[in-house]
Amino acid sequence: MDTWQSPGRLQIIRQIQQTQQWDMLVIGGGITGVGVAREAARQGLNVLLLEQKDFAWGTSSRSSKMVHGGLRYLASGNLKLTSHSVKERERLMNEAPGLVDLMAYSWPHYKGQFPGPKIFALLLALYDKFAGQKYRHFIDKDKALYQLPGLSEDGLMGATRFADAVTDDSRLVMRVLNEAHNDGAVSLNYCQVDSMIKENDHVNGVIASDQVTGERYEIQAKVVVSATGAWADKFRNQMGQASKIRPLRGSHLMIPNWRLPCAQSITLKHPVDGRSMFIYPWEGMTVVGTTDLDNPEMSSMEPSIQASEVDYLLTAANHLFPNSNLVKHDIVATFAGVRPIVSGGALNPSSEKRDHSIWDDEGLVTVSGGKLTTFRLIALDVLKAAAKYLPHVNYHDHGQRIFSEATSGSEYFKLLDAQWQRRLLGFYGQQIDGVCECAKEEGWALVPGTQTFWAQLRFAARMEAVVNLDDLLLRRTRIGLCVPDGGAQFEEKIKHICQQEMHWDEDQWQAQWQAYQATWQRYYYLPAAS
Ligand SMILES: Cc1cc2nc3c(=O)[nH]c(=O)nc-3n(C[C@H](O)[C@H](O)[C@H](O)COP(=O)(O)OP(=O)(O)OC[C@H]3O[C@@H](n4cnc5c(N)ncnc54)[C@H](O)[C@@H]3O)c2cc1C
Repeated sequence: MDTWQSPGRLQIIRQIQQTQQWDMLVIGGGITGVGVAREAARQGLNVLLLEQKDFAWGTSSRSSKMVHGGLRYLASGNLKLTSHSVKERERLMNEAPGLVDLMAYSWPHYKGQFPGPKIFALLLALYDKFAGQKYRHFIDKDKALYQLPGLSEDGLMGATRFADAVTDDSRLVMRVLNEAHNDGAVSLNYCQVDSMIKENDHVNGVIASDQVTGERYEIQAKVVVSATGAWADKFRNQMGQASKIRPLRGSHLMIPNWRLPCAQSITLKHPVDGRSMFIYPWEGMTVVGTTDLDNPEMSSMEPSIQASEVDYLLTAANHLFPNSNLVKHDIVATFAGVRPIVSGGALNPSSEKRDHSIWDDEGLVTVSGGKLTTFRLIALDVLKAAAKYLPHVNYHDHGQRIFSEATSGSEYFKLLDAQWQRRLLGFYGQQIDGVCECAKEEGWALVPGTQTFWAQLRFAARMEAVVNLDDLLLRRTRIGLCVPDGGAQFEEKIKHICQQEMHWDEDQWQAQWQAYQATWQRYYYLPAAS
């Protein structure tokens, strides 16, 4: 069984060093980069993807996790983006049940608030038309209070029910990356691209540095794709182009479900500035999000929530659920991501468009903006732009499946209830039997307080390119977001698994544990002053 752990990583590096020229080199291991790698590899292109930190370390593990049409695009008249997004949502739900699942949404209507039930129903009629399914219906005040217990009754007229989908964005990235691997793509995390190699005014490779070993590599490619999201200006600036990206931070609170019970996603308007927000269930927790603020500093430091954002989000939750009396002490964890917005110069951050853009600068094809939901369509657009350098590439949408069908023959799989089988198949696809192998050692015991099996943690440590502990606890699994103190109470058990699977000695473990705790405290909890 090959693994991404040593010697897996060394083998990948050897392959990189031995390959004279790649057809395509993709920079960035977020959803856009892995989507491009997936679509390019299926056409037989020789593809290498490099990620400076961990896969999904950027925005693609910090989104609001909604695979959605985006009502805001519809409201702003962007019918094309909405229609594409709704269709992609349906495709993803069909192809990856358990990873992308339908979630009920409610929009409570209060007297004097826009949009009222009638206008909202009109918007949703279009939304449902794009999906080819009717999800919308109005519920009266009594039903709304029954289905959304604790909701503010003051001026409540009822609520509109509709549907969108929810995912785990990190797992979505890993699943798409696995599909790219199945078609021959090669990927390496913790390998930062520093600069372009140019010959005759044409980009034909990159210089990259391995963040684990410190080694530098010169890598040749027919075309280089920068899928670096909010960091996209860096290489375009090196090519003499002006900055285009306006990084906008959005932050979220993770609250225990018993403190703010919610069985469906609730769309609300913030009581102070009227911005749309969500409160929704995810991984057994309740998430309150999000904000929309300029985040001009795009260094390699992780974005994190600011004290004013904590207050802003708590204010909204307490306004809608007045008896919940949420306080900072109730917050288990936080996460913040940076939207890669291609700026149109709007004064109000929330008025900026969310579409993606593509630029070609002498063989460096840059893509930025867009959404998680539409990654497949964005990838096809990138192939179209790259076709100039790869004449045989086919960028037409033939509607091929993103995800291969997967089943498990493992006896251990059969021990699971249908609901868990569905979830694990969605998360791991064709790798499911590897997880079941780990269940031989761990059984199907859940990490207490989470929806994650210890077997999943062991599988990630064994097979999923984990380099640092935060890769394991914040992205391959979400233990660090769902358990108080980032999971400190499970230190001994996590250490045991890491030492068995990754052969960390005591010193390595101590260094990893301390680094993880510092990261969690600084970027995934509350700001120091609050
Ligand atoms: C708060 C928030 C909520 C959102 N909610 C939703 C939602 O609910 N639904 C939805 O569809 N979309 C949502 N989005 C949008 C969506 O998350 C993003 O559009 C998407 O994740 C961007 O993916 P990406 O791959 O382009 O960028 P990223 O995920 O940021 O990936 C870029 C990667 O490039 C790497 N990189 C950068 N420089 C280098 C280098 N020099 N060398 C190597 N690697 C490099 C970075 O480390 C990073 O991992 C949300 C965004 C935010 C911020």
